[in-house]
Amino acid sequence: MSEEQNKGVREIRINPIVPTESVLVATARGMRPKKAEEKIERDTRTHVDTCPFCRGNEDRTPPEIKAWPDSRDWEVRIVPNLYPVLGDDSPSNNLAFGLQQVIDGYGRHEVIIDHPHHGIIIHEMSQAHLAALFGIYQQRMAELYASDPRLKYVLVFKNFGPAAGASIPHTHSQIIATPVVPENVQNEVTHSHQYAQKYGQCIFCSLIDEALTYEATIYDRESGAVRRRISVGQYVIERGERFVAIKPFASRFEWEIHILPLRHEADFLAASEEDLQDFARVLQRTMKRLDKVVGGVQFNFFLHSLPHGDEFGNCNESYHWHLEICPRTSIPTGFELGSGLFVSTVSPEEAAEALRNAEID
Ligand SMILES: [Zn+2]
Ligand SMILES: [Zn+2]
Ligand SMILES: [Zn+2]
Repeated sequence: MSEEQNKGVREIRINPIVPTESVLVATARGMRPKKAEEKIERDTRTHVDTCPFCRGNEDRTPPEIKAWPDSRDWEVRIVPNLYPVLGDDSPSNNLAFGLQQVIDGYGRHEVIIDHPHHGIIIHEMSQAHLAALFGIYQQRMAELYASDPRLKYVLVFKNFGPAAGASIPHTHSQIIATPVVPENVQNEVTHSHQYAQKYGQCIFCSLIDEALTYEATIYDRESGAVRRRISVGQYVIERGERFVAIKPFASRFEWEIHILPLRHEADFLAASEEDLQDFARVLQRTMKRLDKVVGGVQFNFFLHSLPHGDEFGNCNESYHWHLEICPRTSIPTGFELGSGLFVSTVSPEEAAEALRNAEID
């Protein structure tokens, strides 16, 4: 092994979108400061009699908010969360107790049963189903925003596996609507707006351009012949007609992947049906790659879109919606949680290459 390989990469990288976030990329051999997160046993059952989310057990959940199609043979179903972290009956007129009190507890918390099959995982769902699922997210987000102008953010997310916070094994995702914008989204909105004011363009678009334009030619030292030509973007994992999946240059999770529309768009609600078809294809293929490279992994995904409210009206040109996929491959250490400096033991370049080269059908 050369000295270069032995040293590996060891550098602190700043998240270009949120510069207050940074990650220490440390890939040197023997440098294993982290414990691997457990992979989960696949539950491949399609139906479980005792599961409240399985078809035929509809009476075991609160009455549904929405089902698609609207019949006993539903494919996707939305129900209120039995244990909501937020409710819509909190008093909202007690301004005297301060902002914290006013926003405390107000909002909506709903569960989306992603698929009638109990143990199915994202990459096993058909592209048509995934496109419909994201279409339903979109409809429900629009309904919630329209229902109450105090709601500034509707977060759609998914937890898969106990380490990622999923308490019910049946595949599902969640919607949380709040009058406050989650801190990480607010940070993205603020920093991307500052970037646009300074450079006159969307930072997400700039990063996509950068990811797509990487090219290199490696020549043979003796003959001068071309040994290898790399023309795929270094950070690109999957490319569709309208969407791209990229490995961020600096991210908190080793195998974190972001999927973004290639054309600038701030609000997920503006995505068309054709957009969602292509998005579903890119998502399914990306999750297949992830499964191939780090199979059985627990993960979260979060849909980040422009918050609603007058104060965000001027961020249409600077913000860019995306899906963040965060696989839980290692348990965060006390150092990471305490310092906020996350350690990545796989370099983002290597992770991107492994995912890109994974053979999928
Ligand atoms: Zn089930
Ligand atoms: Zn953009
Ligand atoms: Zn984001």
